[in-house]
Amino acid sequence: MRELGAHSKTSETVSKPLVLILMGPPGAGKGTQARMLEDRFGLIQLSTGDLLRGAVAAGTPAGLAASSVMQAGGLVSDEIVLAVLQDRLAEPDVAHGVILDGFPRTQGQAAALDGLLARSGLSVTAAISLEVEDEAMIARVAGRYTCAACGEGYHDDFKHPVKAGVCDKCGGTAFKRRADDTAETARARLEAYHAQTAPLIAHYGRHGVLETVDAMGDIASVGSALGAIVQRISA
Ligand code: AMP
Repeated sequence: MRELGAHSKTSETVSKPLVLILMGPPGAGKGTQARMLEDRFGLIQLSTGDLLRGAVAAGTPAGLAASSVMQAGGLVSDEIVLAVLQDRLAEPDVAHGVILDGFPRTQGQAAALDGLLARSGLSVTAAISLEVEDEAMIARVAGRYTCAACGEGYHDDFKHPVKAGVCDKCGGTAFKRRADDTAETARARLEAYHAQTAPLIAHYGRHGVLETVDAMGDIASVGSALGAIVQRISA
């Protein structure tokens, strides 16, 4: 990882580089909230899911190995995930601080992250757990889709574009759904979360960096709660 340094490019600046982890089951809102924190504080969202989907689309060896595991809702091997993450961390834009979205998901990944950060004299600033109810997550995941151009999120039941077929944010007219956003795969992803990732909540609690947020509310109120945490820990 490149050396991190404080920055001043956004309207609300943080005075020191942050390493934030957003934790929570599929559908908890990690991606949406990470993008909002990115816009507000100038941090960089690093989603291992996005990186892996990029590798699948590009047909790289990592992508080929990951594809069927992702389709089934399982966890991709630590080796592959760490390889794609390390490549991304070598890019210069991460120097001001990062929001890890969907990483770490296993004890092995958490240990590897600590090692990577320690090499740059860093540690995890905060691990924020988005607390939600499982059954609501299946419904959230199964109906969601995004604008293909700008990534704005929509949902079959909860959020339609104001003008049917046209993105509210950018006017785009093409939309996409993730191949693994079905009710069946969402259940498998929830199981993987509880078996392998949820234990990390206690891990970060023991390290004194755990924050929890009730994430059953609307996007704006969860965003305010997260924003308040980022302001507090970066002060
Ligand atoms: P996400 O976009 O975070 O929901 O991730 C989508 C899928 O990518 C997951 O269901 C996993 O198959 C895989 N994946 C993403 N991040 C990780 C990770 N840190 N470790 C293992 N598999 C991952």
